[in-house]
Amino acid sequence: MNATNFDIAIIGGGVIGLSVARALSGQKRRVVVIDAGHETPPATDAAAGMLAASFESAAEESMADALYALGAQSLAAWPAFAAMLEDETGLSLDYRDDGIVAVAFDEGQAAALKDSGEQLCARGGAAWFLDGGEARRLEPALSDRVVAALYAPGDAQVDPRKLLIALRAAFRKTAGRFFGERVVQVEGDKAGHRLMLSNGERLVAKTVVLASGAAATQLIAGLPPPPITPVKGEALAVDRSENTFRHVIRCPAQPALPYLCPKADGRVIIGATEIAGRRDAGVDDASVRKLRAGAAEVVPAVRDWPEIERWSGLRPATPDGAPILGRDRRGPDGVFLALGHYRNGILLAPACAEALAREILGESAPSPSPLIHLQPFHPERFVSSAGEGEHG
Ligand SMILES: Cc1cc2nc3c(=O)[nH]c(=O)nc-3n(C[C@H](O)[C@H](O)[C@H](O)COP(=O)(O)OP(=O)(O)OC[C@H]3O[C@@H](n4cnc5c(N)ncnc54)[C@H](O)[C@@H]3O)c2cc1C
Repeated sequence: MNATNFDIAIIGGGVIGLSVARALSGQKRRVVVIDAGHETPPATDAAAGMLAASFESAAEESMADALYALGAQSLAAWPAFAAMLEDETGLSLDYRDDGIVAVAFDEGQAAALKDSGEQLCARGGAAWFLDGGEARRLEPALSDRVVAALYAPGDAQVDPRKLLIALRAAFRKTAGRFFGERVVQVEGDKAGHRLMLSNGERLVAKTVVLASGAAATQLIAGLPPPPITPVKGEALAVDRSENTFRHVIRCPAQPALPYLCPKADGRVIIGATEIAGRRDAGVDDASVRKLRAGAAEVVPAVRDWPEIERWSGLRPATPDGAPILGRDRRGPDGVFLALGHYRNGILLAPACAEALAREILGESAPSPSPLIHLQPFHPERFVSSAGEGEHG
C-alpha cells in the first residue's frame, strides 16, 4: 500500500467527518480526511454548541420520534465523548451539562411550553415547568417579563470551535492523513475509488464517506447529488465579562427569536437567523441588530455587553429535517453518506459517527454504547419508488 492508498476516505472535515474518522480509529483501517476549508462557510465553526435534544424536532412528523431518539442517544453519549477527547488531547471542550431553559412572555407561550414539556416526558425525557419567579431563581439574569419557563436539566452545551480543534488534534494522533483540498471527482469500480483533488493529486480508497455539509450541493463528478439545501445562519457574540449568567436560554417561537449561549471564556453567543438557499458568508447588520434586541428582551444585561464578533455558516438541511446516514445505493458501490444534520450536527455527532462506523465496518464492530439504529435515516427514503432521482 503506498502513501495515497487508503481503506476509507472521508470527504469533509467538519464535526461529522472528523467524528466518523474518530469512530473508525483503532479499527486498523487507513483513514484519510479531505477538507476544502472555508471555500463555502462551514457549519461547525458557526454553531452555538447547544446539545438541545429536548427542544429540536424534525420538519416532518414521520421523522419526529426517530430524530428525538437519535438526539437523546447522542446526548447520553456526549459526556464520555467529551471526556475521552479531553483526555487524549489535553484540550478543554467547554462541555457543560447545566441544562437548557426555554422561556415564555405570555400565557399562550407558557401553555405551548407546558405542552412540549409533557410530550418530552411522554418520550422519556425530563422537563420541569417553572413559573417566572422560579425561572429567575434558576437564572437570575432573566427579565421580569418572563412569566414561565421549561427547564430541560439533561440538555448540555459545548464550544464547537474547541471541539473542532480537539477532533483535529485527536485525528492527528492516529495514523490518519489530512489533505486540505477540495475533492472534485470520484471514480469508482471494483478495485476501489479514485479521488481527484483540486490540486491535481489523486488518492485511492476502498470506501468513501461523504460528510461535506451544506457544500454537498456543489457536485463532485462521479457521485449522485444528495438532497441537501443550505440554510444560512447568522450569529454574534457579546462579552459578558464578569457576569455570572450561565444557562443556555431559548426565547419563544424558535427559530424566529434568538437563543443565548454563555461560554466559559466570557462570550455569549446569540443566534441565529435561518435563511434558506443563501450560500454567501455575509452578515447583515439588520439581522444582528434584531438578534441582539430579541436577546435583550430576555436577558436585559445584553444591552450593555459589547459585541466582539459576528459570523455566518451554512446548515445542511434535508427535505424532512433529519440526517441522511448510510450506504448510498445510487452510485458507485462503497459510498456512504453522513449528511444533513441541519441544526443539530454538534448534538448528533457522537451517535451518528458511531452508528455509521459500525455500518461501514460491518455489524461485528464493537460498540461502546447501546446500539443506535440508522434504518430511519437511510438515504433510500429520498429515492422515488421507480428508483430514479430524489426530491429536495
Ligand atoms: C449559526 C448556526 C448555529 C448552529 N447551532 C447549533 C447548535 O447549537 N447545536 C447543534 O447541534 N448544531 C448547531 N448548528 C448546526 C451544526 O453546526 C451542523 O449541523 C454541523 O456543524 C454540520 O457539520 P458537518 O460536518 O456536516 O458540516 P460542516 O461543518 O459544514 O463541514 C463540512 C466540511 O466539508 C468540506 N467539504 C465540502 N465539500 C468538500 C469537497 N468536495 N472536498 C473536500 N471538502 C469538502 C467543507 O469545506 C467543510 O469544512 C448550527 C449551525 C449554524 C450555521
